Amino acid sequence: MAIYQSTIKRTLILFTAMTLLLTSCVEKEKAAPSIAKTLVIQPFSGISQNQVDNVSKQLRKHFRTVKISKEIDLPQSAFYPPRQRYRADSLLSFLLTNEPDQKVTVLGVTDKDISVGKNDIIDWGVMGLSYRPGRSSVVSTFRLSKTQVQEQLYKVAVHELGHASGLPHCQLKTCYMRNADGGNPLNEETGFCEKCKSYLVERNWIL
Ligand SMILES: [Zn+2]
Ligand SMILES: [Zn+2]
Repeated sequence: MAIYQSTIKRTLILFTAMTLLLTSCVEKEKAAPSIAKTLVIQPFSGISQNQVDNVSKQLRKHFRTVKISKEIDLPQSAFYPPRQRYRADSLLSFLLTNEPDQKVTVLGVTDKDISVGKNDIIDWGVMGLSYRPGRSSVVSTFRLSKTQVQEQLYKVAVHELGHASGLPHCQLKTCYMRNADGGNPLNEETGFCEKCKSYLVERNWIL
């Protein structure tokens, strides 16, 4: 999932509407660097240390520097009481404010349900959300298969970080960049396709 901003209101509305039709999980950060030098994993209270360690271990295969920050509470400002969820778009901006270093990309990890507005749906539950391009992403274990959390969390994390590097969704069903479109197709994904892979390698990913 990813988000967009523009200085011209009309353009913003049209562009956002088009984007939401094509991609269900992306927001755009203004003037964000698309190549991160350092990835920081930000655990939110409740996520197991084991999950954080596992995902960071796997992400170290793709990023030269991966750090884990001290666990923090989810910001109350992102809480959406009607559905007992946290708004993923609010979490993305919170993560940016919390980590002002422009050379750092932050990946928030939570076990709570997260959501964002999508087309006419006010509150649409998602597995993850990212700016595209940008330097903050957030992933949640809430909608993942309970017996395959480790493997699926990794897939959601690389999908969102792919958006953070600028990648849009991919049409190939086996590619990590496919659009989940409200479901959980993660078990059908086997890796980045050649096109997505070469895009990321150009942006310093190790693949
Ligand atoms: Zn996506
Ligand atoms: Zn692809």
